[in-house]
Amino acid sequence: MCGVVGIISTHKPVAGELYDSLIHLQHRGQDAGGIMTYNKRFHIKKGTGLVRDIFDEQNMSRLLGKVGIGHTRYPTVGGFSIEEAQPVLTHVPYGIAMAHNGNLVNYSELAEEVEKKDRRHINSSVDIEVILHIFAHALDHPSPKNQSESFFNQICSAVDEVFDRVKGAYSVIGTIMNKGMVVFRDPHGIRPLVKGIRHNKDGSTDHIFASESTMFYSLGFEPNGNVQPGEIIWIEEDGTIHSRITKEKEFTPCVFEYVYFARPDCIQNDVSVYRSRLRMGQNLAKKWKERYPNITPDIVIPAPSTANTAALSFANELNVRYSEGLYKNPFIGRTFIMPGNEERKKSIRYKLVPQELEIRDKNVLVVDDSIVRGNTSREIVRMVREFGAKQVFFISACPPVKFPCYYGVDMPTRGELTAANQSIEEIQRFMGVDILMYQEIEDLKEAVTRRGDHNIDKPCMACLDGKYITGDINEKKMEAMENQRNLERSQIK
Ligand code: SF4
Repeated sequence: MCGVVGIISTHKPVAGELYDSLIHLQHRGQDAGGIMTYNKRFHIKKGTGLVRDIFDEQNMSRLLGKVGIGHTRYPTVGGFSIEEAQPVLTHVPYGIAMAHNGNLVNYSELAEEVEKKDRRHINSSVDIEVILHIFAHALDHPSPKNQSESFFNQICSAVDEVFDRVKGAYSVIGTIMNKGMVVFRDPHGIRPLVKGIRHNKDGSTDHIFASESTMFYSLGFEPNGNVQPGEIIWIEEDGTIHSRITKEKEFTPCVFEYVYFARPDCIQNDVSVYRSRLRMGQNLAKKWKERYPNITPDIVIPAPSTANTAALSFANELNVRYSEGLYKNPFIGRTFIMPGNEERKKSIRYKLVPQELEIRDKNVLVVDDSIVRGNTSREIVRMVREFGAKQVFFISACPPVKFPCYYGVDMPTRGELTAANQSIEEIQRFMGVDILMYQEIEDLKEAVTRRGDHNIDKPCMACLDGKYITGDINEKKMEAMENQRNLERSQIK
């Protein structure tokens, strides 16, 4: 996952607001970040680590211009160096910068094509660079018919080239030097991209596009819906906006955004993340009562904080006390998105501190958002037992994660997924819990789609049911991508 944001203003510099936006998107990636603006020239600052550590007054003061994009990176493809940070840039044609959230399934084939056929140099291993070059090459080589078309039509043709060639998930924001901002989302709309608008006193409007709406309120933007699957938006520097949907397929946004990634205060695809998590807890409680009518825990504890909302409604439905029996140190990064398993394991006891008074001599039910590798959950159970719990029950708001994600979430190899290799009984023994219960797939889908004025056909659940939306994931492809991922992992250890 990554966080991406673009702001185009008619009247004021955008660097400060891009910085604030990245702070609000920091939970989507902590590996690297960058901001690129333009004002006759591109101005760029990128770095590794947290947003607050990359930018300072001095480098921010160089980011001039009223149009810009920002990115916070969580690596799914590519290494961990500054070259892999976004936005990325090409000077031909016009000068184009781009950043994205997503992951390409056919990156290797496209990278070869771009270098050999289009004769464009790729300088990193991040997949946005491939999208950038396909777009730039198409814009630089319009068909004879397109040459006389409007600039927006030329942009649509270039994005159509991306839609035709690029397979996978991508929500993209780009800027074209001295012209404006281009925004598009893959035809399945797998990764999120929301829109906001700000009406200025002089009657002009500013526009923001972002992975989440988390910064809209503080920056004075009103939510203005979503970039639709297969939609292309072009905003000129004077605020004139053009939009067209050229390739729409089944709308299948990522279900894991609602389970784990997105901040609860955001609305994605017209569905409140907070409310969907409440419904996940309700559905779990219903299942618990059906399966274990005679077992009632003494307390319900969420772990970690992304499970708070589901745990709250679960406890309410069971009429059991909700307890913050595991205190989360807010200054430790999210373990799921830290590179390297050893680091991840080590950080759990720094991150969560059990409160003995809440736990000792009680039947404790822990609610987690999901169980991916299983190591974090096992460690949590151990800690709760060490602090004197009588029995430990464990429930997951997400069904068993059995398949890798090729659309931008870092759980790529089947060997790492505990539910891909073990039965629920085996996982229960591995974790050392008295009862282990998962959400059902249909109940999760219902929790996400029950409410909201949305046009979701069905959420992507490929990591749960193995049904890959783009239809081009086969055994050979899986093996190739897993080998590539293992190689990258071995290089960073
Ligand atoms: Fe999201 Fe899972 Fe689909 Fe990946 S496979 S996009 S994590 S639902």
